[in-house]
Amino acid sequence: MVLKKQKCPCCNKEISFSKIFSAKNDLEYYCDDCHNVSYIKMDKKIYNLVIALIALCVIIVFVFSFVIRMLFLGAIIIILLFLGFYLLVPNFLKLSCGSEKQKRQFK
Ligand SMILES: [Zn+2]
Repeated sequence: MVLKKQKCPCCNKEISFSKIFSAKNDLEYYCDDCHNVSYIKMDKKIYNLVIALIALCVIIVFVFSFVIRMLFLGAIIIILLFLGFYLLVPNFLKLSCGSEKQKRQFK
C-alpha cells in the first residue's frame, strides 16, 4: 500500500496527512505557504473502492457469523478494512489551484 503525498497545486509543497483530512470536509484547502485556496475534487474511482469495501464487509459478516461463528473477529477485520480505506482516501483527492478571480477575492 503506497500512500501518495498530496501537494499544493499552487506552490507544489507537500501537504501533511492530517491537513488533508481536515481540509477534505469543507472541500477546499488553504495553503499556509502560498496563501492560496485550492479546491478539492473526489476522484470517481473511489466509488469502485467503496463498492468493493461493502462487498467485502458482507462476505466477512456472512463467513464469520455463519461459517466460523466468530463475529467478534469479523468485526475487528471490518474495522481494520475501514481504517485502511480511510488512509487511502487522500489518494483519490484531486486538488486544483483556485482560479485567478477566486485568488483575488482572498487577498
Ligand atoms: Zn501552496
